Amino acid sequence: MNEILKHAVEEARKMTHLGKTASYIPELGRVNKEYLGVCVCTGDGQYYQYGNADIRFTIQSISKVISLAVALERCGFDKTFDRVGMEPSGDSFDSLVKLDLTSDYPSNPMINSGAIAVASHLASEVSFERMLQFTRLLCMDEAIELNERAYHSEMGHISRNKAIAYLLESKGILENTVEESLKFYVRMCSLNVTAASLAGFGLVLASDGIHPVTGKRLLHSRVVQTVKTIMLTCGMYDGSGKFAVEVGVPSKSGVGGGILSVVDKRMGIGIFGPSLDEKGNSIAGQQVLRELSAKMKLHMFADNVPEF
Ligand code: GLU
Repeated sequence: MNEILKHAVEEARKMTHLGKTASYIPELGRVNKEYLGVCVCTGDGQYYQYGNADIRFTIQSISKVISLAVALERCGFDKTFDRVGMEPSGDSFDSLVKLDLTSDYPSNPMINSGAIAVASHLASEVSFERMLQFTRLLCMDEAIELNERAYHSEMGHISRNKAIAYLLESKGILENTVEESLKFYVRMCSLNVTAASLAGFGLVLASDGIHPVTGKRLLHSRVVQTVKTIMLTCGMYDGSGKFAVEVGVPSKSGVGGGILSVVDKRMGIGIFGPSLDEKGNSIAGQQVLRELSAKMKLHMFADNVPEF
C-alpha cells in the first residue's frame, strides 16, 4: 500500500502546475498549490499516507455531505428533498442559471444553491457547535476547528453566494434569513481538516455509517446509501460523469483542494491537492484517485476485486 500511494502522489505531483488555487476566496488563494497528499483508512482502522496528508485545509464543499446526512437524519427524506432535487446539474458549482430560469428548486445538495437551501433548514434544527462535534466524530478527528481566517475571508467575498441565497429566498426555499443561512453554510465550509480526517470519514461511510473503532452506528443505513449515491452522481460538480467512469468511487471535492472518496466495504480515502481544474476539482488529486482505482481495482463495477 505505501508503495502504491508514494508512486501515485509522485507521478500526480507533476500536474499541480496545471491548475490554480481558488483565489475567489483570498485565503485559499494563498495556499501553496504544489501540496499533494493522500491518506487511506482501511476497514481495520489502519491509516496509510503519503505526501502532505497532515496539513490542515478547509473542508469547503465536502461539508455538504455532512450537512446533507444530518438533514436526512433530522428532517427525514421527504422533507429534505422537498426543496432540493437529486439530479446532476451539469452546471458549475456556483451557478444560479437553472435555478433562475428553469426550476423552482436547486438541482441537488452538492452545489452551492442546494447546500445553502439545506443549511437554511439545518440552522433551525441544530447548532453549529453540535455540527462541529458531529464532524469530529464522523472524521475521527478531535482536532477539527473552525478556521476563522478562512471564514472571514469568504464572508468578505460572498456576493455570488448572497445572490444565490436571495434567489432562493425569492422562491420561498429558505427557512432562515439570507444572513443566517449563509453564516451556517460558510462556517461548515470553513472547518479545518486533513486528508487523514477525510479518510476516516470515508471509512465510516464505507462501513454503512458505523464507527470502525467503537462499533457505534453514527448514521442510518438509508442515509448513508442516499449520500453515497448523490456523491457518485453529483459530488465532483460538472465533472461527476467522467470521474465516475474513470474512477468509479463515490467522491466529493471541495475548492480547498480536498477530495473525500468512499470505497464501499473496503476503505476511505482522503486527498489534499489545492491546485484545481476549471471545474473546481483537485487536478492532481483526481490523478491520484485514477491511479489508485486502477492499481487496487477500486471501481465499483470492477470485477475480480481482491480481498484486503
Ligand atoms: N465555500 C465555497 C463556496 O461556497 C465552497 C465551494 C466548493 O468547495 O465547491 O463557494
